[in-house]
Amino acid sequence: MRKSTPPFPMRKSLATLSARGVRAEPPARDVGRPTSEPLYQTAVFDFPDIASAESAISKGDTYFYARHGRPNEASFAASVAALEGAEAGIATSSGSAAVLCAALIGTSPGDRILCQRDAYGGSRALLEHDLVNFGRQLELVDAYEPAKVADGLSRGARFVFVETLSNPLVREVDLPALAWHCRSYGALLCVDNTLATPVSQRPIAHGAELVLHSATKFLGGHHDCLAGVLVGSQALIKEARALVTRLGLNAPAFDSWLSARGLRTLPLRMERAEQNARTLADRLREHPAVKRLHYPGWSAMLSIDLGTREAAEALARACPQIHVTPSLGGVESSFSHPASSSHRNLAVEERTALGIGPGLLRLSVGIEDAEDLWSELGRGLAQL
Ligand code: PLP
Repeated sequence: MRKSTPPFPMRKSLATLSARGVRAEPPARDVGRPTSEPLYQTAVFDFPDIASAESAISKGDTYFYARHGRPNEASFAASVAALEGAEAGIATSSGSAAVLCAALIGTSPGDRILCQRDAYGGSRALLEHDLVNFGRQLELVDAYEPAKVADGLSRGARFVFVETLSNPLVREVDLPALAWHCRSYGALLCVDNTLATPVSQRPIAHGAELVLHSATKFLGGHHDCLAGVLVGSQALIKEARALVTRLGLNAPAFDSWLSARGLRTLPLRMERAEQNARTLADRLREHPAVKRLHYPGWSAMLSIDLGTREAAEALARACPQIHVTPSLGGVESSFSHPASSSHRNLAVEERTALGIGPGLLRLSVGIEDAEDLWSELGRGLAQL
């Protein structure tokens, strides 16, 4: 039997009992340890005396206040660091918070950032507006051409931000070439690995210094948490941790807990979703209603161009089992219409130049049965 805390020595009025409750002692360290990590839904940690509180706060070697860290965030971040082959990691309140954190620690006022032109609209907007407000300069670059990135670096850029696999056109950048150019110019390469996940790509092995994720997507995997994570060297993550603490960019405990649980099935989910995507891509490629298929030959994401917004709307309507969801990476397949959602803030001309037309429909492929998915999609396409 577990012990409970000794009786409270104050007068046991209802108010005191209610405010203090009775707390069961945590189990002994190596006997009866909880199999699932407990949710540390606490903003503060308490201490038996002033000296131990002072020691914890000054050394920072244990938890004391949630903005400085909590076990669930630490477990989640350490797990992602292990999967990505990084020395350390820090969890953040969203993928966007991880982008903000990476760009702020990777640059100083006056520095120039090179951002992949077709990066996720929210990341691009953050760098374009907020980082510029923080005194950085931003240059958009065609990251698929390493020579163009090298050109930007030769003109003094200090930080390069790219996505392993772009959203929504699932184009791949040449990570080893970009890392080589960044190294030669002493610039930092930061990679958003949200769409590929460490199951398919480990950018650190190719020379990236910072890797981040919107854990809201495949890492969490169930559309029930909002979180981000940034991994890299001990030195960079130490700076990131100080920034996260100052700005309060921490991931909530429950979202970290959900994200960490999502990681447990990540390889299984990715394997199944990628296999489904391959099956669907082979059939979509041949379908007369599909003007163009965007699919790199792997990945759980693909996009189809149906030519017009009317056709994209008609297909989404004709496939009621595949919901329109302004996100991706869940266990259930979902559609998104980038021109009216993730990339709606770009000027029409720029969207068109990037290939994100009104008829483009992105499919985040889930782990359902592939034939069930095709029966829905094939039936919908036949109605166009
Ligand atoms: N990176 C990519 C590739 C994304 O698709 C998103 C969101 O859609 C983000 C970053 C931002 O993540 P969050 O919504 O968790 O802030």
